[in-house]
Amino acid sequence: MSFDSLGLSAELLRAVGEQGYSEPTPIQRKAIPVILQGLDVMAGAQTGTGKTAGFTLPLLQRLIENSAGANARQRGSRPIRALVLTPTRELAAQVAESIQTYGRHLPMKSAVVFGGVKINPQIDTLRRGVDILVATPGRLLDHAGQRTVDLSQVEILVLDEADRMLDMGFIHDIKRVLALLPPSAQRQNLLFSATFSDDIKRLADRLLNSPELIEVAPRNTTAERIGQVVHPVDKHRKRELLSHMIGANDWRQVLVFTRTKHGANRLAQQLETDGLSAAAIHGNKSQGARTKALAGFKNGDVRVLVATDIAARGLDIDQLPHVVNYELPNVPEDYVHRIGRTGRAGNSGEAVSLVCVDELKLLRDIERLLRRDIPKQVLPGYDPDPSIRAEPIQNGRGNDRGRSQPRQSEGYGRGRAPANKTAAALSASRRESGSQRAGQGRGEGRTAPKPAHGHVRRKSADSHAQPQHRHPRSGRGSPRAALVGGGFTDD
Ligand code: AMP
Repeated sequence: MSFDSLGLSAELLRAVGEQGYSEPTPIQRKAIPVILQGLDVMAGAQTGTGKTAGFTLPLLQRLIENSAGANARQRGSRPIRALVLTPTRELAAQVAESIQTYGRHLPMKSAVVFGGVKINPQIDTLRRGVDILVATPGRLLDHAGQRTVDLSQVEILVLDEADRMLDMGFIHDIKRVLALLPPSAQRQNLLFSATFSDDIKRLADRLLNSPELIEVAPRNTTAERIGQVVHPVDKHRKRELLSHMIGANDWRQVLVFTRTKHGANRLAQQLETDGLSAAAIHGNKSQGARTKALAGFKNGDVRVLVATDIAARGLDIDQLPHVVNYELPNVPEDYVHRIGRTGRAGNSGEAVSLVCVDELKLLRDIERLLRRDIPKQVLPGYDPDPSIRAEPIQNGRGNDRGRSQPRQSEGYGRGRAPANKTAAALSASRRESGSQRAGQGRGEGRTAPKPAHGHVRRKSADSHAQPQHRHPRSGRGSPRAALVGGGFTDD
């Protein structure tokens, strides 16, 4: 199927062609015709599926088609006609870039506003008039408070990565933004989310009018492009193992996840000491530092980018071959988002998790979500010491998520050597490691996750129709969505 059959205008098809896309992705095939009809949409799609073009292309076309009426109404002024809300600055910047790219042959003006940078240049841009505004909620509300933005003419609203916005505690900001828009029945509303929790469904009920439900499997699940492996290792040896793996395998571009901002800083410094060029990216870094780190990572100056979950959300780095979970995330869904950074847009990738005894419960939660075991492989010389007992996980002072794990009384389970193992036992265990490694070929164990899709299905089965079916209008005015997750925001 080609883009030509989706009903897009010549200018948009030209821009798509210039990007080198030969055919639409599944989300684009499903979403574009529905959005072009002017219907509300609730779409289950992760980053990496091509969702940005999936809403940007029809959004641009709808605005152009309706221009005549809008222009007449406004008699020359240029109101904001489409608003895209995103959880993070990086995602906002990327969406804005996509709008520029796909709209380059159209007379549309777009702008992006997010926190962490000066507000005055944004005010100037808004004053000159924009048709499409991409924004993070916090900075948008700052503008609203200063009356430097008028959202009363918005015709299309997009909530991108809505699940992430709720995770980051933006629900109240979102409600405040909604109050600045025309009534929902007078706009087209598009909600994109990787997962459909009850909170997302409640938000959808408030926001969407008889939405069309669209779900697609993340690309990676169908093509089994991401190899996943867990390396059990003691906590105090993780850094050494990471440096060893990067050096021994000659990895040139590695995205490493830590749980806390402090942990990200410290690890980046330690890796630098080991002679690996590294940078940290997280919510406490200035926007300039984040942009610089990302640019360095993309152009190869920075070999290892150490990131917290929230900072990494929305990063679109083509052909990222290696993602390392230096620490497992507290929230299993974050694992899915993390490994979604690799194997993007059709490329293969590898997701490695360094797991210490403290994290076994987190690992089990992740495997439950994926509904499969991740292959375990002890690397020679890095056998975990079975005498080390699990400790509660500390997320740092004023931590990112504000939670610590309960004390666990478990070890690595059956088959592990005792604490006082002999040299013979040690070498036997290393042989075992080697043979496990030999069994880790492409087909075996290197299976791709079925993460968000499975999650969406399971969670949505109770109250939502199957993909592509119309969602019965339900529950307007249902209880307010509860706040999920901790208070750390990236905005
Ligand atoms: P997204 O899910 O929107 O973050 O897109 C993920 C990546 O897929 C981006 O790098 C896009 O440039 C790329 N992409 C989007 N649509 C297509 C397409 N139809 N064919 C190939 N690549 C695409």
